[in-house]
Amino acid sequence: MKLKSFPKGGIHPPHRKNSSYSPDDLNASLPSIATIPLSQHIGAPSKCIVKVGDTVNEEDLIGEASGFVSSNIHTSIPGEVIEIKDLFLPNGRVCPAVVIETKGEFSRIGKSLEIYPWDDIEKEKLIEIIKDSGIVGLGGATFPTHVKLTLPEGFELENLIINAAECEPYLSSDHVLMLEFSREITTGLKILKKILEPKNIYVGMEVNKKDAGDLLTKTFKEENLDASVVLLKNKYPQGAEKNLIKAIIGKEIPSGKLPLSVGVINVNVSTVYAIYEAVCLKRPLVERFVTVGGGAVKNPGVYRVRVGTSVRSLIEECGGFTEEPEKVIFGGPMMGFTVFDLDVPVTKGTSGILALTKKEVNSARTTNCLKCGRCVDGCPMGLVPSKLFKLIDHNLCDEAVENGLNDCVECGSCAYNCPAHLFLVQQFRAGKSIVRRSKGAK
Ligand code: SF4
Ligand code: SF4
Repeated sequence: MKLKSFPKGGIHPPHRKNSSYSPDDLNASLPSIATIPLSQHIGAPSKCIVKVGDTVNEEDLIGEASGFVSSNIHTSIPGEVIEIKDLFLPNGRVCPAVVIETKGEFSRIGKSLEIYPWDDIEKEKLIEIIKDSGIVGLGGATFPTHVKLTLPEGFELENLIINAAECEPYLSSDHVLMLEFSREITTGLKILKKILEPKNIYVGMEVNKKDAGDLLTKTFKEENLDASVVLLKNKYPQGAEKNLIKAIIGKEIPSGKLPLSVGVINVNVSTVYAIYEAVCLKRPLVERFVTVGGGAVKNPGVYRVRVGTSVRSLIEECGGFTEEPEKVIFGGPMMGFTVFDLDVPVTKGTSGILALTKKEVNSARTTNCLKCGRCVDGCPMGLVPSKLFKLIDHNLCDEAVENGLNDCVECGSCAYNCPAHLFLVQQFRAGKSIVRRSKGAK
């Protein structure tokens, strides 16, 4: 079998995709209190439309999109608004959050779900439903999906690429989703096909998910959807947008440009499922699949989790810790953010929660750069990470930009390879933030 891949750099960290799941018991326990941040997307926080003391029904709108790349926020549980407070998010941002205590009835639990017909809905209306439902990119970017799906007037889309690579170690929620909901994903793809009218549809995934790929291929055939599964080498970061596009259609996105510049729209497979729910079940985005893993978790698993559920309660659901974790991470170990407070909630962008042991975390002391070039070998974007590091260290951030800082996808391949254990990615994030601030952005 010929597997595709991106040509430059990349690394092979151990997969550690050992979180189990039970098809009959996918739902995590419902939270008694949900803390729902009003910023779960790039762009400005949503405008809060509830106040303390209000009663809300499950899936009610509580935050209205407040700008072009902002999105709606709905409550994941019914109940009473007991607090509105500022919350520190794992990415370092602070945003208002609505705290809701469960009261009253969950509208869908225990009832058979009505599937609404969508064939006769115009594509503009479908985009509006996706917008109203608060759908954002669930691969981690959290870019509002309705904006991505609104093509420029007269634009003819060549390729719709579905990102199912899930190349970060530990993470396996997309894999579980594809194994359990292939028919729903196929319907979501049909909806996207109607909206975007692409010439080709590809679903790219690492070959370690071949069982899901075979199932999707079978389902596409049964449902008469012309879409192809493309199996990719197990290589990190296969799921980085530019790498995925290069691997599947061989096109390079120029620096500073979007996939649309090479005729591509790239959508994460979990987002496709959320589109299905929004259109066919009239359900806003109030829950997502999350991998709970890492050596410090007693029973690692994949669960469907309500937005607003705390990390603490999810870990408890997995049997608690086997030992004090060295680090708890939101997302994958390569690109995720360290969590310092276990009461922080799951958001739309949370693909995984990992509690890592000392053995799993590289806590070796840093030394000076050894000029070995291993970071260059690992970089999929063809950058010279050691040089970028040095430039930012010397406060020469503009020069770092000239040397490709903004092309860095923060994948961490360079840091993984670095024998000096330098905090390369943190340095690049800091450098980008300095540049952004110098240009007047927040
Ligand atoms: S983090 Fe940036 S510099 Fe390092 S390997 Fe990834 S893209 Fe290259
Ligand atoms: S891998 Fe680390 S030590 Fe080697 S050149 Fe790059 S930054 Fe320096």
